[in-house]
Amino acid sequence: MTERLVLVINSGSSSLKFQLVDPDSGVSRASGVVEQIGEASSPVADHDAALRRAFELLADDGMDLADCGLVAVGHRVVHGGNRFYRPTRLDDDVIEQLTQLSPLAPLHNPPALQGIEVARKLLPDIPHIAVFDTAFFHHLPAAAATYAIERELAEAWQIRRYGFHGTSHEYVSGQAALFLGRTLASVNQIVLHLGNGASASAVAGGRPVETSMGLTPLEGLVMGTRSGDIDPGVFSYLWRTAKMGVDDIESMLNRRSGVQGLAGERDFRRLRTMIESGDAAAKLAYDVFIHRLRKYIGAYLAVLGHTDVLSFTAGIGEHDSAVRRDALAGMEELGIELDLERNSAGSGSRRISSDGSRITVLVIPTNEELAIARDCLSVLGR
Ligand code: ADP
Repeated sequence: MTERLVLVINSGSSSLKFQLVDPDSGVSRASGVVEQIGEASSPVADHDAALRRAFELLADDGMDLADCGLVAVGHRVVHGGNRFYRPTRLDDDVIEQLTQLSPLAPLHNPPALQGIEVARKLLPDIPHIAVFDTAFFHHLPAAAATYAIERELAEAWQIRRYGFHGTSHEYVSGQAALFLGRTLASVNQIVLHLGNGASASAVAGGRPVETSMGLTPLEGLVMGTRSGDIDPGVFSYLWRTAKMGVDDIESMLNRRSGVQGLAGERDFRRLRTMIESGDAAAKLAYDVFIHRLRKYIGAYLAVLGHTDVLSFTAGIGEHDSAVRRDALAGMEELGIELDLERNSAGSGSRRISSDGSRITVLVIPTNEELAIARDCLSVLGR
């Protein structure tokens, strides 16, 4: 069989990540990122320039998009609203509907749409498919998806808990079952996706029953630059008392909060160095991050009732053994016992709990690009 490849594009406001994936073998043939889009000092003026640069980088890698077996372009779209939860082939009508969803995800969907527009222009003969970060959580139980606010208002404005990082939670929960050699339907699991954005999910027999993000990717865990859970009263208090505007408050909660807001640093490697050199603010930021994470783990153990496996994934989850150790310390009575040697060694998918731990703890590298590429093929029926 000749090789078939999918180009996966993740277009954010200031960066565009791309990867050329073989969905059959799972091998990534080329990947890269174009950064600083639209910044004053950057040669990459806009998303059009960014995608052209990405194509140049692919060509430098010897990948000719016109002649490499490209069968689809998969676009990561953060918010699918109520309507979009299956991978969806993009045409003018779908794009129009997605544009109308932008107010639900003003920071995330517009740059994705810019990426889609440019990619369709540059690759007009290839099917373009949107894969939604909210999709996996579309069927969250109503009790988990519903905010306890005025019902008519919530319905009128499509306010619910949507959840994000769904591609990753779905992929990792599938891989965890595979790792254990069990069917997805037979395991209850907790997935902790800890990257710059961070979220947790509880998955019962393959179906998500809880997740930490909500209407937007702001709710839940403490993140690199996002506050996670916060009393909504803070919003009106700042508006009324500090005279901050809505956009400024939103920007503060999304970009100047989290670990960055507390310690002036969002990268966990540098945060660790700061803690080791006695920086009290860095230590507090780390402690707040860990405390919130432990609170969610406890909550999800209760939601599931019985848990078989807990998996860590994404940059921090896969690489920061201290975070994993501190997140699970002292949970033996809850059935979780790490093997500290396993936890601090190894790479790839691996077990880090002790043999006697009732709940198995795994590290599972996420691979959102591969999951998106496979979703694309499913739409094309190939
Ligand atoms: P994104 O959400 O941007 O995809 P990633 O999943 O790449 O983010 O995660 C980024 C985070 O992972 C950063 O805080 C970074 O410090 C952390 N990280 C990456 N590698 C390591 C490592 N070896 N040790 C500790 N933290 C790491």
